[in-house]
Amino acid sequence: MAVDDDKTKTKSQAKDFYYILGVSPNASTEQVHEAYSELNDKVGPYSEAANSDPETQQRTWRDIRAAYEVLSEPAKRREYDKNSSVFRQTTDVRALWTKVTSGVQNVVTQSQTQELKGASGKIQPQSLEMEVDVSLKEAVKGCKRQITIQDPKACEECINLKPVNRMQCQTCRGVGYFTVERTLDIELPRGLYDELEIRKTGQGKWDMRATTHGDLILKIKLAKHPVLNVLGRDIAVNVPITLYEAMLGAEIEIPTATGRVVMKIQPLTQPGRVYRLKGLGLAGADQLVTIDVLIPQQLTSEEVVLFRKLKDLAKENHNPRESLFTNVQQVS
Ligand SMILES: [Zn+2]
Repeated sequence: MAVDDDKTKTKSQAKDFYYILGVSPNASTEQVHEAYSELNDKVGPYSEAANSDPETQQRTWRDIRAAYEVLSEPAKRREYDKNSSVFRQTTDVRALWTKVTSGVQNVVTQSQTQELKGASGKIQPQSLEMEVDVSLKEAVKGCKRQITIQDPKACEECINLKPVNRMQCQTCRGVGYFTVERTLDIELPRGLYDELEIRKTGQGKWDMRATTHGDLILKIKLAKHPVLNVLGRDIAVNVPITLYEAMLGAEIEIPTATGRVVMKIQPLTQPGRVYRLKGLGLAGADQLVTIDVLIPQQLTSEEVVLFRKLKDLAKENHNPRESLFTNVQQVS
């Protein structure tokens, strides 16, 4: 058990500093400073977040400081780079800042409301996060989903009773509220991709303390496709063609996220050639078609005769491996 505990500890301590600062692993020291100063405004000790949600702010700020101390010092950063590749992208800190910074936005709107209405400070409603599974086709084309939300509704019989008496309420059996289902028809736009978050303001769960609806945050989960692979926003597919199609060119049908399309194979297409089909990937990115040339598995004696004849006729009868040897000679 002790060993397991140690493991968990190491894992939770190993953090992706690049992710925390929101910079790429190739970022210059200058960019690291910039990112840090931007975060200082958003979640630093003198930010609005420090007032609105001090606990999350302090936790987040600790991580940001730790990341900055390492990444802003070239020597420390090199050492970190050596040891960190395994756990990059595993922290949940980005989620924390979203929470903190959205808190800030809410605070801003709230203070504006206060100016308008003179209302006293309000409790912020909780957001509701939901995962939405979408297929590749839906991600490209957009889709509709019906979502059911369970809103709590205060029990009117006992809402004004003391907690002790509320326990005896027959209507809600002492819970204090009922759950009311609400269905939402959600239209997800075209151009979705994995991990995309779509925020529907004020459409989340009813928050009884805040007496308003929180936001609904839909997190897109892209389902795996049997033959199409997603590389970033591009969609990649390996397509086999025959030797004859490769040599003479052809028009072939290939699968895309939304159905079949016909594409042109140029004459003398080499194995491994990548064709880029514009706009057929995710969110307007491309589809990459990598060509695989199939050599016949069997030849009839007549074909052998014809291939020999072709070999004799071929213009390119040089040895394609010559350069392998000449290059070696140059080196040695
Ligand atoms: Zn009740």
